Amino acid sequence: MAELANCSQCGKVYVKQLKDICRDCYREEEAAFKKVYEFLKQQKNREATLTEVVEATGVEETLITKFIKEKRLRTSMFPKLGFPCERCGTLIVSGKLCMNCSEELKSDLQQHEALEKVVERNKDVKTTQGVYYTLDKHRR
Ligand SMILES: [Zn+2]
Ligand SMILES: [Zn+2]
Repeated sequence: MAELANCSQCGKVYVKQLKDICRDCYREEEAAFKKVYEFLKQQKNREATLTEVVEATGVEETLITKFIKEKRLRTSMFPKLGFPCERCGTLIVSGKLCMNCSEELKSDLQQHEALEKVVERNKDVKTTQGVYYTLDKHRR
């Protein structure tokens, strides 16, 4: 059975397949990828930053970021490519936060969990297990 969904890019209803965007958007995305890749492939552009790529190709930053996250644009090949950590602005290539920030947040979270456990212990009534947010490093 075909499943219908709204394209996450343009909102159009389409038959859902593997992608979360419709065929038109997919095609556009592929064209954008090619453009970006053709640009970066040139020796002199190997060390272009994200901003420079955006300026040169006219492709949206969010889309290029997506390519980096999907590992279609490899930062081993293009060392200056990356996007800023949402917390401190350091260039990163996956997830939302840099190593430092995720470590920090993790210890915050651990402290928080430890605290919750103490609170839990002091309670007579059993509550449903709390849901903790884990840092999703493997987002695709
Ligand atoms: Zn679409
Ligand atoms: Zn950071």
